[in-house]
Amino acid sequence: MISKQSFLSLTLLLAFAVSALAQTKTENVILITLDGARTQEMFGGLDLDILKDKTRRGKVEDSALYKKYWAATPEERRMKLLPFFWGTLMKDHGSIAGNRSLNSAVMTTNKMWFSYPGYSEILTGQANDSVINSNDRKRNPNTSVLEFLKRKLKLNKTQVALFGSWDVFNWIAEHEEGAVTINAGHEPYELAASADTKAFSKLQTEKLSPWDSVRFDYFTFEFAMEHLKRYQPRMLHLALGETDDWAHGGDYTHTLDSFHRNDQQFKQLWDYLQSSPKYKGKTSILITIDHGRGNTIKDWTDHGEKVPEAQYIWMAFVSPDSQLRGEWKDAETIYQNQVAATLCRWLGIDYSENNRQAGKPISRLFSK
Ligand SMILES: [Zn+2]
Repeated sequence: MISKQSFLSLTLLLAFAVSALAQTKTENVILITLDGARTQEMFGGLDLDILKDKTRRGKVEDSALYKKYWAATPEERRMKLLPFFWGTLMKDHGSIAGNRSLNSAVMTTNKMWFSYPGYSEILTGQANDSVINSNDRKRNPNTSVLEFLKRKLKLNKTQVALFGSWDVFNWIAEHEEGAVTINAGHEPYELAASADTKAFSKLQTEKLSPWDSVRFDYFTFEFAMEHLKRYQPRMLHLALGETDDWAHGGDYTHTLDSFHRNDQQFKQLWDYLQSSPKYKGKTSILITIDHGRGNTIKDWTDHGEKVPEAQYIWMAFVSPDSQLRGEWKDAETIYQNQVAATLCRWLGIDYSENNRQAGKPISRLFSK
């Protein structure tokens, strides 16, 4: 039997734990994923070996890609590729883990190293390799952090939203079909209100896309921005995809240009957040990838079980509740299965209520 005194101290301890969880400035969370965007380009910009391999005629130095993105050091190269991300976001507002040359690593816990298992690990907080082992359009057996937050924060469907370039998000991101707002693949955006967005919604199906199940990131981003402005979601997942699809096709120019476009989109999103009283100073952003890819000219296009380099990913954090800036150094390895719990922790919510097996919040972000 529990004594009166220990009951009292237990109550105090619980009250303390609850208030410790609640002491955050974050009221909204935004998750951004760039499909298969390698650590090599994120931290080092243009990969000269790939460019040399791709240059069939003339000198590498004369190629448009070299002129646009080459510089002597990795820091200068990545600044050319992602000027807003490195020059503003990581300098003044956030931090990034996963640069192994600085002794910081981020890894998947799933051993599949392709998209469905990666996104499922991100969104449910748990790898599930015996069941989630293909990209087939199968309903996720586990509930996602989107579904959990909607229930926990008593939100309506528009306030928890995912906009994705890849259509399989309709199966990955919710266990219960129709639980949250998901707009993915070449799906029309039914809630479109502005003339532009209505036109884009039509155009995305009329304009030929190189891919059956993936639309251009431009459409995904425009729909997400309109939704953000109009419905002010508490959780938004912006799932961009072109960095993966162009790479599969071996098109290094479009792969790098996709990184660069995504960087411009980060700026547009950030500028909007700063202009909005609902979001400014109250929004935490986590940016990551579903999987890496190969490290050589032979396999940079690829990922999956035969490409173990693809288990290395990166993760960036921009939050009013974290003072960390720039690159993580000499840090403990963190894992993809910690994303869901970290998003919830920012909101003062304990994700283990939804899934006891899920990874824990990333402690470095919350230690003073
Ligand atoms: Zn892929």
